[in-house]
Amino acid sequence: MNTLLLRDARLVQDGCITPCDILIRGQNVESILPARSGAAADCVRDLKGMYVSAGFIDIHVHGGGGHDFMDGTPEAYHGASALHLQHGTTAMLPTTLAASADELLRAFSVFEQCRDAFPDGAKLLGLHIEGPYVAPSQAGAQDPKYIRNPDPAEYNMLLDACPHILRWTVAPELPGAMEFGRELKRRGILPCIGHSEADSDTVLEAMRCGYSHITHLYSATSTIVRVAGFRHAGIIESAYLYDGLTSEIIADGCHLPAPLLQLAYRHIGPRRLVLVTDAMRAAGQTGGESILGSLENGQRVILEDGVAKMPDRTAFAGSICTADRLVRTMVTMAGASLPDAVQMITETPARLLGLDDRFGRVEPGRAADLAVFDHTIRIAMVLRDGAVRYEN
Ligand SMILES: [Zn+2]
Repeated sequence: MNTLLLRDARLVQDGCITPCDILIRGQNVESILPARSGAAADCVRDLKGMYVSAGFIDIHVHGGGGHDFMDGTPEAYHGASALHLQHGTTAMLPTTLAASADELLRAFSVFEQCRDAFPDGAKLLGLHIEGPYVAPSQAGAQDPKYIRNPDPAEYNMLLDACPHILRWTVAPELPGAMEFGRELKRRGILPCIGHSEADSDTVLEAMRCGYSHITHLYSATSTIVRVAGFRHAGIIESAYLYDGLTSEIIADGCHLPAPLLQLAYRHIGPRRLVLVTDAMRAAGQTGGESILGSLENGQRVILEDGVAKMPDRTAFAGSICTADRLVRTMVTMAGASLPDAVQMITETPARLLGLDDRFGRVEPGRAADLAVFDHTIRIAMVLRDGAVRYEN
């Protein structure tokens, strides 16, 4: 098997930055050696002190490169996964939106067809189903006409149809949502709280039913309300209060201001906080226009200030960021150390999906899925299964 030596790297892992050489044999990391080891290999790449980390894992992403996973074509899967790979993402969870059961079934079949099809794109680990069982008042970009309560006949049919659903975002206060959480948990799927008005008591009950993760904290998540004089805590307060919960944030630097990024980083911390892009199809584009939702019936949006906006500029229409920008934002705006920022998009997402035995770390025996970047988090090289799939 061919060997590749990444010489003079700085490994970002375990809370520190360690100078090293990384020897790759075939698809896997063979060993992590002291810097300038002089080890022999078929091919040697001098990284000149650049950073290397495990490839980024984006567990909430709708598209990129002009494509949305709901377009329902292999071209969309290829285009979006390749765009994100060029920004350091080597594994992702394509995410669906509230849709009819038929549309979801179509999305599942395209996913199955594409799952292992594109070696130049990020690995498609499984699906994240966002909606349709969410609170109408917290719909966000979910189309209200498809929002409904969990129905066992429908969700069991959907779950039976796709063996690769890894997470599902639900509003736990809906009738039947607790039972649905238990069913997801029973099937080894991560039940997630999101697009929800739940108060903290409901969150606690949801946790007892298996829910353990909060989808895009601060976006479509409840907070303190006053009912007949009495205050009730919401999902946001629960994220800080309950150690059994993990949370994700859209750390594009637009959706959340610096104080909220700092608050989440300091008080939820890198072991319980995950960075996601939640990117729509315009990820990777810097200006102009795009379409939110389907190509035929979607909404025209404008791209400005690094985010998609509704044409009247009163609201955001989705993130257009990539994973490298998430890391950069956490370092520059949240004051995170580089190892902490990297942990929040490598080890932590892998752990909460139960995939940390294979993903999220650079370790001998594991697939060499690596991101190489400079001090501004500009991606210089991306390896997937030991092969250089992108180079800048
Ligand atoms: Zn989303």
